[in-house]
Amino acid sequence: PARSTVVVGTGTGAHPVMIGPDTFTLIAGPCAVESLEQTLEAAEMAKAAGATMLRGGAFKPRAAPRDFQGLGKVGLHILAEVREVTGLPVVTEVIDAADVDLVSGYADMLQVGARNMQNTALLQAVGRARKPVLLKRGIQATVEEWLMAAEYVAQRGNLDIVLCERGIRTFETATATTLDIAAVPIAQRLSHLPVIVDPSHSAGRRDLVLPLSRAAIAVGADGILVDVHPDPEAALCDGPQALAGADVRELASTLRRLVPAS
Ligand code: PEP
Repeated sequence: PARSTVVVGTGTGAHPVMIGPDTFTLIAGPCAVESLEQTLEAAEMAKAAGATMLRGGAFKPRAAPRDFQGLGKVGLHILAEVREVTGLPVVTEVIDAADVDLVSGYADMLQVGARNMQNTALLQAVGRARKPVLLKRGIQATVEEWLMAAEYVAQRGNLDIVLCERGIRTFETATATTLDIAAVPIAQRLSHLPVIVDPSHSAGRRDLVLPLSRAAIAVGADGILVDVHPDPEAALCDGPQALAGADVRELASTLRRLVPAS
């Protein structure tokens, strides 16, 4: 099928961004929104790396209940403020069907995370929303199941879906999950949807973010989703995978070198 392009960021004052076959989109930002200052700084880092979209979690689905769960609505306000300053459209996760209207009021794109890929009520709720959806692959989901999750969204009328490969659980413990790089061209062949890669959450290790980003480019992904943080040591969420300083500059030069100008 002809590949689709999804447009993100119309109607919020942001600079709209295209995700699809004619371009390569870098989405970057902090794993979690922690404060206005931290999010602004991370957004400037993202821009310096060449990002045209900002990521940042306000609702964080954490493995342990005592871990930082995100700032919630305050985090959404911060993201909207940072969009106003930087012009970057914002993607942020929604973890509960009851919050879809709230999050849609702030975000340019709704993220459904790996843990919720088969939460059919949430999929249907984002399917009714008027914002594009970033659908991450569940860590135990086959490509077929991932595409069926996208069908749940599409069936409710929302066809603006971008798929994100973020690693699957295997016996390997050197990385948080194993990036299934073959899933990118497979999903592109089986559907018309753009497919991006999250090298940060798949590996859980900063030192692998650049190599996996290069792999994503080589295999024909439509973009990448990368964690950056002004002070990874102090990050409230997933600091070990966040890029900072020289790593951000290297990401920028890697993209300039490897991504054909569109
Ligand atoms: C995230 O991108 O913030 C996240 C929690 O990722 P995943 O759902 O892929 O674990």
